[in-house]
Amino acid sequence: MALLRFAPSPTGQLHLGGLRMALYNHLYAKKVGGKWMMRIEDTDATRFVPGSVEGIRKALDWAGLEYDYGPGKEGPHAPYFQSERLDLYRSYSNKLLDSGHAYRCFCSPDKLNDTRERLARTGSNATYDKTCLHLTEEEVARKVRAGEKSVVRLNDGNLPKRPPATDLVFGNLRDAHASLATDPILLKTDLFPTYHLASVVDDHEMGITHVLRGEEWLLSYPLHLDLYACLNLPPPKFAHIPILLNPDGSKMSKRKGDVQVVDYIRRGWEPQAVLNWLALAGWGAKHEPAAVPASASDLASAGSGSHHPRPQLIQKAPDSTTLMTLPEMIKDFELSALTHRSSSLDPAKLEYLNKHHLMNTWSTPQGLESLAERAHDRVKAEFPTRCVMCFWTVVVPTPMLMSCWG
Ligand code: GLU
Repeated sequence: MALLRFAPSPTGQLHLGGLRMALYNHLYAKKVGGKWMMRIEDTDATRFVPGSVEGIRKALDWAGLEYDYGPGKEGPHAPYFQSERLDLYRSYSNKLLDSGHAYRCFCSPDKLNDTRERLARTGSNATYDKTCLHLTEEEVARKVRAGEKSVVRLNDGNLPKRPPATDLVFGNLRDAHASLATDPILLKTDLFPTYHLASVVDDHEMGITHVLRGEEWLLSYPLHLDLYACLNLPPPKFAHIPILLNPDGSKMSKRKGDVQVVDYIRRGWEPQAVLNWLALAGWGAKHEPAAVPASASDLASAGSGSHHPRPQLIQKAPDSTTLMTLPEMIKDFELSALTHRSSSLDPAKLEYLNKHHLMNTWSTPQGLESLAERAHDRVKAEFPTRCVMCFWTVVVPTPMLMSCWG
């Protein structure tokens, strides 16, 4: 059975991009009769923002995206917080050390900086000179006994052969290691894993069959496949999802409008409309998988996969204002239909979708009742001292009602 995971880091409120990622995981899992979990990737203590996990859960609840396993839900894959799985990452790191696929590096941050600068001056792409790879076993043991701090690095000069990278959205990829750090760090001095090691270990240990994640991880994909190969583990299938942009093509940021799900909750947008809006951003024509390899770094640096030949068309893209409920999205969703380009989110389309979702809800007795209840609760929350009968006399400051009449 397919098992997917949505793996946010607790670094603040859930963004629209995160909600779309959760949605796509939900759509794909439900489409193929599988399940999905939420895993909290909290191994970087410096970026931890208290309250994030609660905020993410609230946002998913509001959207009606219920994970099968995860925080607050018992399940076979617990614990769902990476900070509670540290022993596991250390045991995998030890396996890699034992097999010679990894080594301990004792270089200090200052020394590493000097090394990087020296290498850059000579025109090298390398980010580390592998000094510690040449330490003898005795030297390593002595340093460890003396309590010297170390990280564990992958030895990228000793990688097993493995099949080339393929992606369910981008097709076949040419392997590109050039843009990766030299001998990437897997375990940090504080004995916490980096994302690379933790995600590979967890995806394997949790039995994840499909990884749907942001396009920003496309460059690290070859490294992750190398790790699977070094550990002699079968990798899951991967789909990298192109990012969302503002209508002017700029990166989505708070300064340019609402980017956090909580903003949409506060303003009273219909969750179904927001999901519909997000789902269709980047939902293109259905086509045959790509036949010609493209390099991961080409695709990522072009931000669009523009070197990719157009594969054969099977079905035209839905209009970006096509009204869809969650069950309809599940029925029609196809990873191969996702475009390779970053997609922009147009607020005018959300208004249109919101209005029509509201009209649909409004048209059934149960829908009308649930709308009235929500409006009632909202008015009570906004105006706690007024009587409920005053409801119709106040301006309900939500797109929920406004757009119905708009
Ligand atoms: N924790 C990563 C992030 O928030 C998730 C990457 C993944 O899905 O593998 O970007």
